Amino acid sequence: MQQLEIEIFPCRTDNFGVLLHCPETGETASIDAPEYGAILAAAERRGWRITHIFTTHHHGDHVEANLALKEHFGCEIYGPRNESVAIPGIDRAFGDGDRFDFSGHAVEVIETPGHTAGHICYHLPDSKLLFAADTLFALGCGRLFERPAADMWHSLQKLAVLPDETAVYFGHEYTLSNARFALTIDPDNARLQARAAEIEALRAEGKFTIPTMMGLEKETNPFMRPADPAIRRNLLMESRTNEEVFAEIRKRKDNF
Ligand SMILES: [Zn+2]
Repeated sequence: MQQLEIEIFPCRTDNFGVLLHCPETGETASIDAPEYGAILAAAERRGWRITHIFTTHHHGDHVEANLALKEHFGCEIYGPRNESVAIPGIDRAFGDGDRFDFSGHAVEVIETPGHTAGHICYHLPDSKLLFAADTLFALGCGRLFERPAADMWHSLQKLAVLPDETAVYFGHEYTLSNARFALTIDPDNARLQARAAEIEALRAEGKFTIPTMMGLEKETNPFMRPADPAIRRNLLMESRTNEEVFAEIRKRKDNF
């Protein structure tokens, strides 16, 4: 079986457009639909016909182009069961643990409530790909709009069990700000220091930081590391639960 191909391009202000393409069948999925013109241009540039949209959550900057793309390509729209009423044009709804087939590749749905109540991530175990949208960012996590911190912490733990070599595609280029914040929480982490320097350099050249890797996130993303003794010492929270430490880190980022 041939490898899936991925095309990444900027949409709106700081969203990513992501197209997932199977060279054997020609099927192409747009991960979310942030901007019609940018997605159409990317598909035309590659000569790909969009057959699917994999929606992660209901926010406007992720579903805005659903209906226009469906009208243009006749594509099928998949999305989260727990917020399916808010997904324009949805054809099939999926919940935690559901699996479906995309061009012979298994896709596993992981529910990750937090940013929104019904947010889902799409995991392709054979290709080691995770489309995490606004749940897990490079060095960050999504803001808590619809669920408490405890739910998001639980969601991130579900992602953390995926293999370290999993490539993580996320919804926004927030990485530079996330890196600067991460250093305030975990200043003595040498791996994080090195990564922050790389990110400063990449962004200075206008380059994107997507994708990241699950193993790297577990080593450097403070939202994945509330159990870390140095972080706990730094926050004066050595005897608190992981959930409480996570909530404190999220609160500090909101005010960063
Ligand atoms: Zn969102």
